[in-house]
Amino acid sequence: LPARLGTGEKSVWVEYIQLVIDYKPKVNLGQGFPDYHPPCYVTNNLAAAACDKNPLLNQYCRGFGLPRLVTALSKLYSPLVCQKINPQTQVLVTIGAYESLFCTILGHVDKGDEVIVIEPYFDCYEPMIIFAGGKPRFIPLRPQPSCGEPTSENWVLDCKELESLFNCNTKMIILNSPHNPTGKVFTMDELELIACLCQKFNVLCLADEVYEWLVFEPKKHIRMSTIPGMWERTISIGSAGKTFSVTGWKTGWAYGPEKLMKNLMTVHQNVVYTGITPIEEAIARSLEFELSRRDTPEYYLTALAREILPKRNFLARSLKANGFTPHIPDSGYFMMADFTKLKNKIDLSKEPDKYLDYKFTKKWAKETSVLTIPPSAFYSKNSKCLGENFARFCFIKKDEKLLLADKLMKEWN
Ligand code: PMP
Ligand code: GLN
Repeated sequence: LPARLGTGEKSVWVEYIQLVIDYKPKVNLGQGFPDYHPPCYVTNNLAAAACDKNPLLNQYCRGFGLPRLVTALSKLYSPLVCQKINPQTQVLVTIGAYESLFCTILGHVDKGDEVIVIEPYFDCYEPMIIFAGGKPRFIPLRPQPSCGEPTSENWVLDCKELESLFNCNTKMIILNSPHNPTGKVFTMDELELIACLCQKFNVLCLADEVYEWLVFEPKKHIRMSTIPGMWERTISIGSAGKTFSVTGWKTGWAYGPEKLMKNLMTVHQNVVYTGITPIEEAIARSLEFELSRRDTPEYYLTALAREILPKRNFLARSLKANGFTPHIPDSGYFMMADFTKLKNKIDLSKEPDKYLDYKFTKKWAKETSVLTIPPSAFYSKNSKCLGENFARFCFIKKDEKLLLADKLMKEWN
């Protein structure tokens, strides 16, 4: 195995999806995806695209994105970032947001370059940086004690520590806001500090904004590319999987200034070359439809957050009643919950895993039939202990499943 691939360990997704197959938990609150149907018109658009009388909709499309889709993306984002986004040169459609992350990192990070990563982080950032020959430099969000119930707002960066990571070798910072797994929405002050350091040290920002629509009021998502001086140095990433609740369609996108997008396009054209034509067509049609009702309450992109808010609230109450300490997320569809108070109820002594949260989530899944994700997977080797007392719960699930999870937890308690 080449050294850049590390020890070839399975990612948490590979490992935990196998658990779903092997143990068939009654409630899977692990990997992030809705367990119910996306909007009907979205799936109808895919069927219609595949059956369209234009036979080319089932053949290769323009490598950097179907013209109809990049045009729709430009219409969607131009007003949001106060830039006239050129659909030809400033947008790239990829296989999931994953591939946009890959193209951004491989397209910019060179041997020895440092990339600042905020922990906990979406796990693939680290291997991607290493594939590129770069060096990840980690900085944790630390939950501050709160008087009321803990929320994602309590997870904060130490400004001095952040500043100390920037130097002349720093190439990029990865900023995931809204944040997986905490649900934190970075504030204007935090973004401005990061922006100021990026400009001072000539650093790029990879803004992973796949949960951009899933923000609970009164919180507001602020796009890094809108902070003064940042458009020129930011690549923003989105996902159709999150936007339309179709994670299995694995289609995402990146947008930013042409000089940076060119580098992503170079990676993309030589790795996958093109996306999946009927899926891109269906997403384009769906975006066009949503844009036509942008100012109505039905606008799906923002309606979804309102729809899942009661699920968040239900899960938070249920976790609290069942001995966890949930940290209420301001965005996304995950909730971090501290299981410290439950430790004396479960015997983890014979569990073979190294980290406590792996031991807990596996044993607890066997005992309750509720599967969750161990957040230490989202930390670098030296900081795993910061996530070890938590389990991550996904709440974009049918109400009946959340009710069942509550019942199973009560029975176990
Ligand atoms: N970034 C973050 C923070 C994520 O949670 C995910 C998971 N979907 C992705 C990127 C990848 O998105 P996609 O499924 O579109 O590849
Ligand atoms: N983003 C989703 C999650 O965090 C899915 C991850 C994945 O499939 N790799 O659960």
